[in-house]
Amino acid sequence: MTTSSLAARSTAAVWHPCTPMKRHEATPPLAIDRASGPWLYDTEGRRYLDGISSWWVNLFGHGHPHIRAALNDQLERLDHIMLAGCTHAPVVELSERLAALTGLGHASYASDGASATEIALKMSAHYWRNRGQPGKHRFVGLAGGYHGETVGALSVTDVEIFRNAYAPLTRLSATVPSPDARQALPGETAADVALRAAAGLEAWLQQHHAETAALVVEPLIQCAAGMVMYDAAYLRQARLLCDRYQVHLVVDEIATGFGRTGSLFAHQQAGITPDFVCLSKGLTGGTMALSAVLTTDAVYAAFYGTDAARAFLHSHSYTGNPLACRAALATLELFEQLDTLQANQQLAQRISAALAPLNAHPRLRHARQLGMVWAWDVDTALPDFAQRYHTAALRHGLLLRPIGRTLYCMPPYVLDDEAVAHLGRAALAALEDCLLQEQELPAQEASA
Ligand SMILES: *Cc1c(COP(=O)(O)O)cnc(C)c1O
Repeated sequence: MTTSSLAARSTAAVWHPCTPMKRHEATPPLAIDRASGPWLYDTEGRRYLDGISSWWVNLFGHGHPHIRAALNDQLERLDHIMLAGCTHAPVVELSERLAALTGLGHASYASDGASATEIALKMSAHYWRNRGQPGKHRFVGLAGGYHGETVGALSVTDVEIFRNAYAPLTRLSATVPSPDARQALPGETAADVALRAAAGLEAWLQQHHAETAALVVEPLIQCAAGMVMYDAAYLRQARLLCDRYQVHLVVDEIATGFGRTGSLFAHQQAGITPDFVCLSKGLTGGTMALSAVLTTDAVYAAFYGTDAARAFLHSHSYTGNPLACRAALATLELFEQLDTLQANQQLAQRISAALAPLNAHPRLRHARQLGMVWAWDVDTALPDFAQRYHTAALRHGLLLRPIGRTLYCMPPYVLDDEAVAHLGRAALAALEDCLLQEQELPAQEASA
C-alpha cells in the first residue's frame, strides 16, 4: 500500500485527533508502516526519528524485545479477565511494584491519562463526602494546566484550545498562577517565581478551602502548555499549604513520570509525598493503553466497608488488563536492567551537546531542559509555525510537533550516537527552512 492511498483512505475513514481535518488536504497524515528503536518507517520505506516518543509515551524505543517477549508470553496465557471479583498475577505484581516506587498504594486502573484524572477527582471528592464534608467537591489547578480531555478532566484543564468549545459541558475549576520560571523578573530566580506563585495559591486556599477537595498539578513541567518548567520549591510549598488547608494534592505524572524529568517521578525532586499520583503514557513503555491512580492509606480507609454507597464506584471494561499490566512490568524491569536513570544522565548530556546550536540561535528564546525534555520559544511571526515546522522536520527525517511557537524534543531513551547527531542536525535544518519561509511571506502577513 503506498503512502498516498493509505493516507487518503485514512482521512476518509478516520477522525484524526487534535487536527482540523481539512488541513490534511494540504498535508496528508504520515502513513507509518513499522518502527524499530527510535526510528519510524513510512509505507515508502523512508525513516523518521521519533523525536517526541509518539506523543510522550515511548521510552525504550519501538518494539523493544523485552516488552515484546512479555506481551507474547502473556497473550499465550491470559488475554483479559474483568477485575471485578477476579484478579490475576500481572495486576497484583504491578500494583505492588508501583506502591513500592511511589510510597502510595491501592492502585486503581483505567486505560488513558484522562481517565486517571477522572478517578483522582472522583476519589478525592468522594473521600470528603465519606468523611462528612460533602461541601468539599471543587478543584483548583494551575494556569495552563493540562490533565486530559474527557469532560471531567477538561474541568481542570486550562488550555483554551482544548477547552473553550466544551466549557459549557463542564464545571470549570479555579486556576491559580503558574510558577512558570520564564516569568522571573531581573534578579529573580526560578525559586523566587515559585514562591510568588505559591503565595497566590495560599491566598486562594484561604478563601476557598472549605469547598475545595483537591489541588491538581503537573509536577515540574506543564508539558501541554508548551513545556513550561518550574522550580521544585512550588511543590514543597503546595504540599505545606494543602496540609494546612485540608485539601488533597493530586500530582499528575502522566507525562513527567518514568524518568522523563531525570528522576523516576518528577515530584520526588521536591521530596514530597502527594495524596494521589496519576500515571499513564510511559507506564507501558508506549505499547498498551494503561493508566493508574495511587493514593494514601488514609484515602483508602475512608472507603473501606461493606456499604456500596461508600465504596469507590468507577469501572471500565478493560480495567487492569493483563496484557497492559505485563507490558508495564516489563517496562519497570528495563529501568533496573538498563540502569536507565543513570544512563539517561550521560545521554542527556550528549543530546544537549547536539542541540547546542539551537540554544545559541538568535531566534530562539528561553532555552530550557530538564531530564529528557528540551524546549525553546521561537521568535517568529510565521503563521501556522507549528504545522510548518512539523512538515519541514519530516522532510529532514524527524518527527517533531511544536506546541504553538514552542519547539521541543522529548525523545525515547535509546538514541545512539547517529540518532543523537541526526536529531541535532534535523531540528536545526527544519528551523532554518521555516525562517526562510518568513521571507517569502507578504509583508503584512509576516507582521500579523
Ligand atoms: C497526556 C496527558 C494527560 C491525558 O492522557 P491521555 O492518555 O491523552 O488521556 C493527562 N495529563 C497530562 C499531564 C498529560 O500530559
